[in-house]
Amino acid sequence: MGIKKGALVFAFLLIFATACQRPAIQPQSTRPRAVVTLFPLYDFARAVAGDHAEVKMLLPPGMEPHGYEPSPSDVAGIESANLFIYTGAAMEPWAERILKCAPNLQRLTVDASKGIQLMGDVDDGHRHGGGWDPHIWLDFGNAQKMVGTIADAFMQTDAKNAQLYKENASTYNKQLEALDAEYQKGLAQCATRELIHGGHYAFGYLARRYRLDYHAAYGFSPEAEPSPNTMMALTKRVKASGAKAVFYEELVLPKTAQAIAGEAGVKLLQLNAAHNVTREQMAGGVTFIGLMRENLKNLRAGLGCE
Ligand SMILES: [Zn+2]
Repeated sequence: MGIKKGALVFAFLLIFATACQRPAIQPQSTRPRAVVTLFPLYDFARAVAGDHAEVKMLLPPGMEPHGYEPSPSDVAGIESANLFIYTGAAMEPWAERILKCAPNLQRLTVDASKGIQLMGDVDDGHRHGGGWDPHIWLDFGNAQKMVGTIADAFMQTDAKNAQLYKENASTYNKQLEALDAEYQKGLAQCATRELIHGGHYAFGYLARRYRLDYHAAYGFSPEAEPSPNTMMALTKRVKASGAKAVFYEELVLPKTAQAIAGEAGVKLLQLNAAHNVTREQMAGGVTFIGLMRENLKNLRAGLGCE
């Protein structure tokens, strides 16, 4: 009898404890839920959202983004979110296709490239595989516009916290302004302005902003292998420019960059376009601004800046 009664009391306590946890869980689950595609959007969105909204990155850490196609469960996640933010049609051609098949009047969908002038295929006099350059976040002026667009989206989705989103966005944009100033200053005086990249053409916006002459082995996305002629031309360029390094990109084996650097007799440095990060970086709390500071350090070393 005593044991039974004890068990009953225990069971009751369990139910009570579970019931008591509910109020603490409830407010969390009522927070707006945003799904964003790439790492820059993820980092911008979590800076804007703070504790007031959940932000989920669609791309699994470590995945190369240009060949990405969402899985059925990714699509379901987008469908049930309050807010879906993508970089733009040039980066995620699948986004508009999904949205057409899955209209949801409750969900706000935002194209983060809104109000940003995309660079075209031959805007710098070279061909890069056609279409528009999707890497808009690598111009920190564009990045600030994207943060503004993201803040507007959260404000619209969750009006009662509008002021907080606005303040968070303004704080974050001040950090981007400071980053831009560091780049302006850090890249002002360099032995060469030729940026030779053994990866895909991701740094066109960054190069334009800081007046660098950018040459990449691949087009806007990392598709077909560069021809021997391209490799030879890049190697010649490295030698003639006096560049101290060839740059390689994140998340793919740098064999092209390695070949050019080896041929030209210079070192290899990473330039991270931040489309996505590795699982370890994500777990370690990597940030967009942190990655860009690392890039600046490498750029200054590779271009011989004062
Ligand atoms: Zn890219």
